Amino acid sequence: MSLLTITTSILLVWMLIIIALERRYPYTAGLKLFREGWWLDLVWYTLIQSYFLKILIFDYIIQPAESALGLSKEGYLSHWPLWALVLFFLITHDFYIYWFHRWQHHNKILWRTHEAHHSVKTVDWLAGSRSHALEILINQTIEFAPIVFLLDEKTAAVVVPIKALIDAMWGMWIHSNIDVKMGKLQYFINGPQMHQWHHANHREVFYANYATKFAFFDWIFGTGFLPGLKPLKYAILKPREYGLPYDYPRDYFLQHWFSFWRFDVKKVENLPWLKPYLEWQQTLLRWMGLVRPLKKALTTEPPSLNTTTQMPPTHS
Ligand SMILES: [Zn+2]
Ligand SMILES: [Zn+2]
Repeated sequence: MSLLTITTSILLVWMLIIIALERRYPYTAGLKLFREGWWLDLVWYTLIQSYFLKILIFDYIIQPAESALGLSKEGYLSHWPLWALVLFFLITHDFYIYWFHRWQHHNKILWRTHEAHHSVKTVDWLAGSRSHALEILINQTIEFAPIVFLLDEKTAAVVVPIKALIDAMWGMWIHSNIDVKMGKLQYFINGPQMHQWHHANHREVFYANYATKFAFFDWIFGTGFLPGLKPLKYAILKPREYGLPYDYPRDYFLQHWFSFWRFDVKKVENLPWLKPYLEWQQTLLRWMGLVRPLKKALTTEPPSLNTTTQMPPTHS
């Protein structure tokens, strides 16, 4: 059995476990499995975008760079045990992610490459897949290039799929809608609680919880936010609203266009010649019985709460 078959099988089993746990122990009760944006996240981001970006990153960026540099012939770190290599690349990459992610939240231009990820209104196992193509291109090139450069070809061929599998599993885990109480473990590693808060549309968390695997980066650099965990006490224990505080397109191509050129979302989405294209995916899902009829779906608006002014955080 090839390593790819093994990692894919593990990922599928993991996905089923996470979905089962979400159904049994939901963090936010009442979320639908086939929620708004399900098709977009699964088909466009998880399958199509990932497929093309993998080719672009490995075949057109990392491999040509490796051929020019010829570093892997040396295999500088190849003599390390496999577990140490995986751990080393996990920690160093998460350290990079912490700072780049933080920069994306503070810089207006870089925010355009990250807002897609925050546009999900239902944070579940699939939500993490929604990331702008440019964000994935930058992050995964920086993630996998050192593995290819610092290891010989044979070792890299093992470490790359293992690292990719852990990323995918961890992504599903931190975004999952599972009500897991990790307690003090959250000073060290990330779980759903801290990342659910990162996706909340509450002003207090617009600049918090940047790490994805090792929460200690947030606690060390002063950006950790988790009600109930010292030093923070907060009036509410769970977010009340998710997503962006402004209009954002629903379609994959419009989302990418919007990141380069701002437009009136409602006006563009209602253009008569664009509407049939925007609605065919929803129509197909309805036809397959995977989403509720349009009328009902349109009347279910998320509650509009201004928790930021009503419930200020208190530090102890
Ligand atoms: Zn973010
Ligand atoms: Zn996320």
